[in-house]
Amino acid sequence: MNEFAKHMIKTGRITKIVEEAPNIKTFELSIAMHAEPGQFVMAFLPQVGERPFALTQAGKKIAITVKKRGPFTEKLFSLKEGSFLGIRGPYGKGFSLQNVGKACLVAAGIGIAALIRLAEELAKEGASVTLIFACKSANEIIFKERLEKVASLHIATEDGSAGFKGDCIELLEKVLKKQSYDKLYCCGPEAMMVSVLKLCEKYAIDAEFAVERYMKCAVGLCGHCCLDEWLVCTDGPVFSKEQLLASKEFGRIYYSKSGKRMRFGGD
Ligand SMILES: Cc1cc2nc3c(=O)[nH]c(=O)nc-3n(C[C@H](O)[C@H](O)[C@H](O)COP(=O)(O)OP(=O)(O)OC[C@H]3O[C@@H](n4cnc5c(N)ncnc54)[C@H](O)[C@@H]3O)c2cc1C
Repeated sequence: MNEFAKHMIKTGRITKIVEEAPNIKTFELSIAMHAEPGQFVMAFLPQVGERPFALTQAGKKIAITVKKRGPFTEKLFSLKEGSFLGIRGPYGKGFSLQNVGKACLVAAGIGIAALIRLAEELAKEGASVTLIFACKSANEIIFKERLEKVASLHIATEDGSAGFKGDCIELLEKVLKKQSYDKLYCCGPEAMMVSVLKLCEKYAIDAEFAVERYMKCAVGLCGHCCLDEWLVCTDGPVFSKEQLLASKEFGRIYYSKSGKRMRFGGD
């Protein structure tokens, strides 16, 4: 794809909708696109807006897997098979997969959407993949069958309804005490990624993190998704452990929908 074509909104039909969990749906679209694991697309609905999503399927058809949150995702959830959706991209910097023999992937909640294709790609490259997947409850565990084909899956639920009872940080530390890894990859809420970053420092593991910030243009123009001197849309969304350790804003400061500088957890 040339550099101009990827910025044009492609209109595709929704060919399949899968209800993965009570609040999570996968939308398969009649749009062909190649993208690295970790890259994202902007989905467009006229009169509603545009929002960033990871691709949970790429190639002849693409798919996005979406958690219902606010106006855009609510409208998306009301669409039926056969409806149209606009897509531009792929955007951003993906994960690096080179020279990884043993990989540990850590996902919390819908963060799994950014990691599922990475798990599959790493397994295809011959890496051994351990995946720690944490959810509030068993009914939020998605892609179980798909993940078990390529990874040794460790589930944690807050209420203990499946797997380990507790959060992914406790489970990750248990795993890291027993095993060493060449690389760790992580996606989830920023507070959780801060704790994973600390464990990566403690256990001296190379790591990459897919950061999700409020994003508007996706092409480095509006400056809304800044993280220190970086823009998450063009310099990320994947950042290295070293970058995030050097960051003054990661886990501390973010910018609201209207651009107001906010502190995580309030002032
Ligand atoms: C690179 C990237 C990849 C993402 N991939 C996925 C994915 O695969 N699946 C998924 O369900 N969600 C993903 N998200 C988050 C998704 O973009 C938001 O949940 C969505 O935009 C919510 O829009 P809304 O109008 O429904 O809710 P809103 O009311 O706009 O927001 C609800 C919550 O989502 C956050 N949010 C809203 N819009 C954005 C935005 N444009 N960028 C970042 N955070 C936002 C807000 O901080 C708020 O807490 C991703 C975000 C980024 C930045």
